[in-house]
Amino acid sequence: MSDAAIRTTCAYCGVGCGISATPTGPRSVVIKGDDAHPANAGRLCSKGTHLGETVGLTGRLLHPMIGNRRTSWDKALDLVAKRFRETVNRYGPDSVAFYVSGQLMTEDYYVANKLMKGFIGSANIDTNSRLCMSSAVAGHNRAFGEDVVPATYDDLDEADLIVLVGSNTAWCHPIVYQRIQAARATRGTKLVVIDPRRTETCEGADLHLQVKPGTDVALMNGLLAWCDREGVTDPDYLADHVSAPEGFWEHIRTGHDLWTTARTCEVAPALLEQFYRLFAATPRTVTLFSQGINQSIRGTDQVNAIINAHLATGRIGKLGAAPFSITGQPNAMGGREVGGLASTLAAHMDFAPEHVECVKTFWAAPTMATGPGLKAVDLFRAIGEGRIKALWVMATNPAVSLPDAGRVREALEACPFLVVSDIIADTDTSVHAHVRLPAAGWGEKDGTVTNSDRTVSRQRPFLAQPGETMPDWWIVKEVGRRMGWRNAFTYDRPADIWREHARLTAYRNEGRRVLNLRAHATIGNEAYDAMEPFRWGGGSPFADGRFPTADGKARLVLTKQMDVPAPLGQWPMTLNTGRYRDQWHTMTRTGLSPRLARHREEPLVEIHPDDAQALGLSDGDLARVRTPQGDSIFRVALSEGQRVGEIFTPIHWTDQVASGGRTGLLPRPLVDPHSGQPGFKSTPASVEKV
Ligand code: SF4
Repeated sequence: MSDAAIRTTCAYCGVGCGISATPTGPRSVVIKGDDAHPANAGRLCSKGTHLGETVGLTGRLLHPMIGNRRTSWDKALDLVAKRFRETVNRYGPDSVAFYVSGQLMTEDYYVANKLMKGFIGSANIDTNSRLCMSSAVAGHNRAFGEDVVPATYDDLDEADLIVLVGSNTAWCHPIVYQRIQAARATRGTKLVVIDPRRTETCEGADLHLQVKPGTDVALMNGLLAWCDREGVTDPDYLADHVSAPEGFWEHIRTGHDLWTTARTCEVAPALLEQFYRLFAATPRTVTLFSQGINQSIRGTDQVNAIINAHLATGRIGKLGAAPFSITGQPNAMGGREVGGLASTLAAHMDFAPEHVECVKTFWAAPTMATGPGLKAVDLFRAIGEGRIKALWVMATNPAVSLPDAGRVREALEACPFLVVSDIIADTDTSVHAHVRLPAAGWGEKDGTVTNSDRTVSRQRPFLAQPGETMPDWWIVKEVGRRMGWRNAFTYDRPADIWREHARLTAYRNEGRRVLNLRAHATIGNEAYDAMEPFRWGGGSPFADGRFPTADGKARLVLTKQMDVPAPLGQWPMTLNTGRYRDQWHTMTRTGLSPRLARHREEPLVEIHPDDAQALGLSDGDLARVRTPQGDSIFRVALSEGQRVGEIFTPIHWTDQVASGGRTGLLPRPLVDPHSGQPGFKSTPASVEKV
């Protein structure tokens, strides 16, 4: 690494790769992997490698704007504070909302959460992480008593079996996939992929179960029934460290035999048996899961069905054995740590009265929220119904990414006061804004992020902030001060916020919560600047078999497979959605890289050749995908990797990029009852030639 190189963290996914960035001009930089970062040891995927192509000023929002007029920061901030204050005074705290992002630094998230929950007095702050991993959060809370990921990347190196459920890891978390491949090469680790699609991740896997979408609870309950029958459960661990609800084992032992499960999941019994035998025979097993599990209207039960299998076999808290939720965004985890979800409070607390009192006292909060706020889908529904009258969107693009995006756009248009802070001037969301605030972006911002395995890393600036852009924490702080809380928002730098966050994690926390950053409560500015990546909670937070519940035991959760309705009548197909290897979210950054565009130049609808033939479609045709929510046009790509009757479209394209390929218009706004996470993976649909 050269002397001029700055160590920072990738802007994209939850793998959280360390980057060495060497500026070569005012807006140019050479990007390399950071050899010393534990997440990637110098490796980068295509997106990280080409980050240097995305730091130009094309499309940037460089000045505060009221409507289409440039204005000063003072005028813009005064207006935002005034309108939020007036709305709260007139209609109450729950008439306003923030919708934030896993792209924010932990420090940004902390200040936004404090302003809304402690001072405005509402919990109407939700995040696009709701769309990504809130079912994992709910599942962890139900099983462990706290939202703790009980695995690390080191577990992947030490496992003898890795089960990937609902994850195209090769595309969406490429450096983790490389790590899995390295384990396979060096220690012969077996790989099982459970996914309705045959993706690149399945290439070379020891086994691929191409299950019917939405049947993961049956699959995992069947696995537990198999382990129970074969004597693979761990009676000592169960007795000492796990509690089960009444009727749990009777439920598992009834109707979860191999043949019934195979029929429910629509896989060959012999393949299912192969998986169950492999799992039963391999104590060092990691089950890694992602959006195929989380983005479902039964996502939380699916998470708990996976965790149940690990708890019952004692495969948790040991090196190489754990259930592992891998996050999508660079700082989904940091947001969880500071309570960035409408359903959580800071420092991994919830809305139990003692937690509310704890945070209220620590913040000296005048108007503390006392219960959960509206989760993303409900929040935008409330805007559409006129119940929320002022909204601030930070670093995200809900007009593209939320399900039923057509209704979301109508809600944004009708919102009496919409503020958007972003790095990009014109997004599908910001075109509806009354005020646009120019945010500093990756390479300009300073703060911390937490990756999927609880490793906290610094993002450091290596470019000057262009125009009048400012960091998100500063923007929120200034609004808080102008709303009248000058003494509560006095931060001069991210390190001030980090110290306060660390103190809050330790406040009234005598070992009850795993998240405890007490050692950082007095960290100096220089030490913060120089902070090396560190993992909170250690390697195996539950190595001693104690969980952060009242009795110290983990919980088995009784989960039932719900019926998955067969496609019918006018909607004969099932739509699944997801990512491409070389694009990120709504393409505001990756869309700037010509080399990344080469991988997939346009949005495709992938369809099995048998379905295509029945519909008179050929490879390369244009086809309209319709659902009860909306429709959009895609290029047809025939794919043997699709199950018959199922299609797949990518989530990335927006109105700013193309007129078709708008996947967000298609999914239903249906959510998991526990987590509020939308089900993006199985929408009734039809396809017709254009
Ligand atoms: Fe960035 Fe994720 Fe690629 Fe690592 S794997 S370089 S964090 S996009």
